[in-house]
Amino acid sequence: MSKATIKHTYATFQLFWHHILKLKWLALSTTILFVISIAPGLIVPKLYKEFFDILSDSNLISMENIATLLGIILVKIFCANFGKAVLWSIAAMGGNKFSSNVATSLTNACFDHLLIRSHGFFNNNQIGAIVQKISRFIRSFEQLYDEFVWKWLPLIVESVATFFIISWRSKLLGSILLAWTILFSIISYIFACIKLPYDLAYSATRSSVTGHLVDSVANHDAIILFSGHNQEQKSFHAETKKQFSLKIFSENIGEFFGVIQSILIFTLEFAIYFFALRLWQEGLFTIGDFIMIQGYLLMMFKKLIEFQKLFRNVFKYIAYAEEMTAILVQKPEIQDLPSAEALIVREGAVSFSNISFTYKEGYSTLKNLSLHIRSGEHIALVGGSGSGKSTLIKLLLRFFDVQTGTISIDGQNIQNVQHTSLCGQISLVPQEPLLFHRTIIENIRYGKPSATDEEVIWAATQANCLEFINQLPLGFQEEVGERGMKLSGGQRQRIAIARAILKNAPILVLDEATNSLDPHSEALVKNALERLVSNKTVIS
Ligand code: ADP
Ligand code: MG
Repeated sequence: MSKATIKHTYATFQLFWHHILKLKWLALSTTILFVISIAPGLIVPKLYKEFFDILSDSNLISMENIATLLGIILVKIFCANFGKAVLWSIAAMGGNKFSSNVATSLTNACFDHLLIRSHGFFNNNQIGAIVQKISRFIRSFEQLYDEFVWKWLPLIVESVATFFIISWRSKLLGSILLAWTILFSIISYIFACIKLPYDLAYSATRSSVTGHLVDSVANHDAIILFSGHNQEQKSFHAETKKQFSLKIFSENIGEFFGVIQSILIFTLEFAIYFFALRLWQEGLFTIGDFIMIQGYLLMMFKKLIEFQKLFRNVFKYIAYAEEMTAILVQKPEIQDLPSAEALIVREGAVSFSNISFTYKEGYSTLKNLSLHIRSGEHIALVGGSGSGKSTLIKLLLRFFDVQTGTISIDGQNIQNVQHTSLCGQISLVPQEPLLFHRTIIENIRYGKPSATDEEVIWAATQANCLEFINQLPLGFQEEVGERGMKLSGGQRQRIAIARAILKNAPILVLDEATNSLDPHSEALVKNALERLVSNKTVIS
């Protein structure tokens, strides 16, 4: 059975802590309120002691007196339980607000982090797996907080109260309880540590199953075209089998620990009652004391029955967060230098000086390449498929950094300028246009967010888009589908050109923009491109 280990526990807590601190007053006040709301319940067993002590006291002769005293105690018990319920629900409302706020802040932080990751990062990580990691990271915080509020806090407060009250009645019983609690905690912790690696491995298989699922669904057409059903089924079923065998194994370990912990619990109960019986024989314990001890122990046991799960859950939820933490602690691959300034394009001259680049060590993609493109020049990259044309363009956009040599625009090394300003000065029309699952107008306006509707329509006209947009039932408000799936290749391409026209960057890069189009679409796209390329440095 494969195992895994936690590597980022500290970092996970640090990340959560950072976001918790943003709401420190809410966190503190709700925690205090939770503790206060546990308190009224703590006096209930003690009140029952008084109740039964009065009942069993043969010195009280008047029935009327007894009834009044007992009635008062019953009212106190009612008030304590009522107070507990009301205070708890107020605290829970504060807790919900706190937990939702932190979860929102964490979600935004994950999203913001992904935005600054490089092209290479997304090449190496399946989208489905990333989505799964983020949702598990957020769930992890919510579950840890629920565990803390509903399980750990009451358990700690009730155990401390039980220890003090039992010690008040008998030091011996108090010491037994303390020694037992320490032993019980250590054993639970050890068991949780043994189980943890299997929980982590299970978590990793869950991510890869989701990744596989998304990959297969996204490529469903390819599966049909290549009759890949059996192959897909085989590899997917193998992964789910691994996932579930890990789950069963890890749950079985949990069940085994559960038995051991149950034995510890009833051993304590036996020991406490055994010694309490002796104290009763010596006349030091009353009937009410037995009822009280029973009340406190039951209160503790109700929580302790789940204690083996508590440690385990903490580790399990941290393990769930692990994979996203591992991503969040990484520095973005492409970062601006502290001294980076905005790129200023006066001429639009692009220069590749003796650059070398490799995706994987040992496999050189581009070697000692030099290319100088003068301002306003139109150059075409020619080479067989896989020769590195797209790679060169990605290097110019700084999707990756060159290993040796420099790329500069108007004499400014692109590694020394702000990356956003670099991308702002280059328009890219790739072979597969990058469209959002949004409306046409939103997609075109992405080239210039401040553009008016008139400007967008003008750009669409320039890019030969109007004719097909007007035929769509919702026109510019039509959604294009995921990655523009509802449009044809030529239509997608023209929207990308409209967007580039709006952006109006001085350097234009066309990466085989017309390669996969039919002749009619190609003619329309080429015609649109002619309008786009004037007065620009063009690499195609
Ligand atoms: P072209 O655009 O000329 O057809 P590319 O620049 O796309 O070629 O690819 C050049 C080489 O780099 C190919 O051998 C390709 O397999 C490899 N390659 C491209 N992108 C990546 C990537 N993200 N990771 C690893 N290798 C890559
Ligand atoms: Mg290419």
